[in-house]
Amino acid sequence: MSDVVVVGSGFFGLTVAERLAEQFGVDVAVVDRRPHIGGNAYSEAEPTTGIEVHRYGAHLFHTSNERVWEYVNRFTRFTDYVHRVYTTHHGEVYPMPINLGTVNQFFRSAHGPDAARALIREQAAELGDRTPSNLDEQGVSLIGRPLYEAFIRDYTAKQWQTDPTELPASIIKRLPVRYTYDNRYFNDTHEGLPVDGYTAWLERMADHPRITVTLDTDFFDESQPVNKSATVGRVPVVYTGPVDRYFDFAQGELSWRTLDFEQEVLPTGDFQGTSVMNYADADVPYTRIHEFRHFHPERDYPQDSTVIMREFSRFAERGDEPYYPINTATDRERLEAYRARTAEEPQVFFGGRLGTYQYLDMHMAIGSALSMVDNKLAPLFGAGVGSEQ
Ligand code: FAD
Ligand code: UDP
Repeated sequence: MSDVVVVGSGFFGLTVAERLAEQFGVDVAVVDRRPHIGGNAYSEAEPTTGIEVHRYGAHLFHTSNERVWEYVNRFTRFTDYVHRVYTTHHGEVYPMPINLGTVNQFFRSAHGPDAARALIREQAAELGDRTPSNLDEQGVSLIGRPLYEAFIRDYTAKQWQTDPTELPASIIKRLPVRYTYDNRYFNDTHEGLPVDGYTAWLERMADHPRITVTLDTDFFDESQPVNKSATVGRVPVVYTGPVDRYFDFAQGELSWRTLDFEQEVLPTGDFQGTSVMNYADADVPYTRIHEFRHFHPERDYPQDSTVIMREFSRFAERGDEPYYPINTATDRERLEAYRARTAEEPQVFFGGRLGTYQYLDMHMAIGSALSMVDNKLAPLFGAGVGSEQ
């Protein structure tokens, strides 16, 4: 038997596995129920065009965490791709996130930063001194009602299927508003895409003589050699699957949003001229279209075909892929109850997006896996299981 079991081969699980194998000489068994490694960051070449497609939605790597940046660069080099997004509203295309270009195009104006700020302040005045208590009020206070209704209200309603007055203000706090023409989507120090793709990067992390990866293996399937009752209490387990599933949903199910993707190969060299186009209006059923060739302008892709993917959002049911935690008040209560139970599991360490019921970007999943190794796993394996002392 291995020294440790890791359930899930996403970025969290692979970071833990790689560090334990390389730093502590530990034998690691990784199991994943999917037929491939990498969790949601997995990508593959679309067979007819060779264009790299992110199967679970477009993944853009960005971080300001120097430790994470140094770590990921051991496995891949990054291109100089910089993410920029546009949005279509009433048949017109605007730059996102909202910046001076968006404001001036929308109001048919030529404001400088001060004039634009004054205009938005006036349009946001309806809220008075009140602190925004939901997404709707947060949106109005950030950019004023006209811009909010054009670019945020209906997009958010499509994405969350919930009236914005019932959503927490925090959802759009991470969306920057800029009084310059800078339309970079992310503010982080480092940004780029893996030069030879996500799967090559993920495979390099798993490529270690002490790591065994077994795919198509559900941890709760008792007929598999590595399963919950055969391992928990016998070897340390790092679990990155859904926390409610681990406890058989005993405290109730946690709610998630899922996405449906419609992929199409089109006979043109360029469909939309950019990698991501959002659709702000309610009458378009999808939230955005990704065109994957634009993530890698440096590659030699065919000139006469392209791959696009329309993204639709809805509430997840059991059996759907859980993508974004919804985090209602009920969810938070249930999560507390699960957290209390996780603390009692003998040497089971819950991590990652699903194991902690948190939206984590890739760099956050990797960063928190490195911390788990430092703080919780190193004390168990500090002497090095594989070494002779
Ligand atoms: P996952 O990647 O979900 O891995 C968990 C693994 O556990 C899966 O492979 C699953 O099959 C396995 N598993 C679950 N249950 C079991 C079981 N019972 N038995 C065995 N295996 C099991 N991050 C960014 O930084 N930039 C982006 O642009 C970005 N875009 C995203 C877009 C979408 C649509 C989504 C959903 C996420 C995006 N992310 C992005 C976040 C990124 O996907 C996560 O940070 C990353 O996947 C987290 O890794 P993880 O290992 O925690 O989880
Ligand atoms: N959002 C919006 N209009 C847009 C883009 C984003 O209203 O054109 C809002 C929406 O509520 C969304 C949130 O901002 O849920 C965060 O957007 P982001 O693009 O970061 O979401 P993700 O890529 O994670 O789906």
